Amino acid sequence: MTSPSLAAIKAREESLLCHTYGRYPLSVTRAQGSRLWDLDGREYVDLLSGIAVTSLGHCNEELAEVMAKQARTLVHVSNVVYQQEQLDLAERLLDLSHCEKAFFCNSGAEANEAMIKLARRYMQRVRNTGAFEIITLEGAFHGRTLATLAATGQAKYQDGFAPLPEGFIQVPWGDLAALEAAITPRTAAIMAEMIQGESGIHPMSPDYAHGIEALCRKHNILLLVDEVQCGMFRTGRPWAFQHFNLKPDIVSCAKALANGLPMGAIMTTNEVAQGFVPGMHATTFGGTPLVSAVACKVVDIMRRDKLDERAARLGNAFMARLREVADRVPGRIKAVRGMGLMIGVELAFPGHEVWAALLERGFVLNLAHERVLRLLPALTIDEADLNAFAAALEDVLLNTPEA
Ligand SMILES: *Cc1c(COP(=O)(O)O)cnc(C)c1O
Repeated sequence: MTSPSLAAIKAREESLLCHTYGRYPLSVTRAQGSRLWDLDGREYVDLLSGIAVTSLGHCNEELAEVMAKQARTLVHVSNVVYQQEQLDLAERLLDLSHCEKAFFCNSGAEANEAMIKLARRYMQRVRNTGAFEIITLEGAFHGRTLATLAATGQAKYQDGFAPLPEGFIQVPWGDLAALEAAITPRTAAIMAEMIQGESGIHPMSPDYAHGIEALCRKHNILLLVDEVQCGMFRTGRPWAFQHFNLKPDIVSCAKALANGLPMGAIMTTNEVAQGFVPGMHATTFGGTPLVSAVACKVVDIMRRDKLDERAARLGNAFMARLREVADRVPGRIKAVRGMGLMIGVELAFPGHEVWAALLERGFVLNLAHERVLRLLPALTIDEADLNAFAAALEDVLLNTPEA
């Protein structure tokens, strides 16, 4: 049997699926570790990991074993009964930070929805205030449900979806004075990513991060941290907020949590967790035994193999290498930014051609906001793959006319 062509797959999808995705000209049929293979058996180096999802590599053998065993023991049973796999996972996740209670769901947007709902309910029913407003930061990405879209605040994603839920306002990134000016008696919380991913990899400065937490404490409002992309050991610590020694009131995570099985979670303090009582929030699939068992193994492997330390070490060496490339192609690279293995290379010009040339050379990565090559490799990637990418980038920049 011959495999279908990419054009045939494209045409088939056109007739079958809602047109929500602008896809890369690539159909992946198989993956292992940091390698992808397309229809023709061509090999690619995966520097995107499903957008920070498969942090332990594709088809990880240890996870496959847990998955197969759990598939034959208990897959799903509903949250109407007790499930120890959720408790095993909660223990492991809560052991990674100051947080004391967890809630499980199925995606990043859902985790952020739970975070928003908990913040509002805690302020309104535990603190007995009328506060509901959430302040977010320009460039944020918090998801695509109606409330998280309101929190995201980017006009291009909101077009045609009015009316969005009320109670979200946005202030410029990096401006503590504007943030404080936006706080009123209606304010329930400030919600932020420590490192913005979708906007093109923008880490907070320590002063900014500390300033945000200080404003929350001064005004007695909650600090909500979205670790959906930057969490799970990627930046050199289990959670990015730990670089700044912050103690957020609620933390959301998802993406890498179950290495590709859909799972999200929030983690919070005992104090704020009082906002939820039985019946106030729920989800059918949240924390199923299957995904919970896999996520337990994910955390165990990340800890055992000290993948936070590895991410920091490889990330620092890789960024140094990318800055050397920048020096050798004057004027072409505007900045190399990141923490650990969450890295952005901002080009001085629209980068589609460079991105396409890198794909042509077998490197899969994302182009964020036209100009930023977004790199989110598996935390287990070989250093040689990162060096090969740096060399390819240099070569492409030397040979691609300025767009
Ligand atoms: C991806 C992402 C989300 C949304 O997660 P989904 O699983 O796609 O709903 C939310 N916040 C951040 C920071 C993300 O990167």
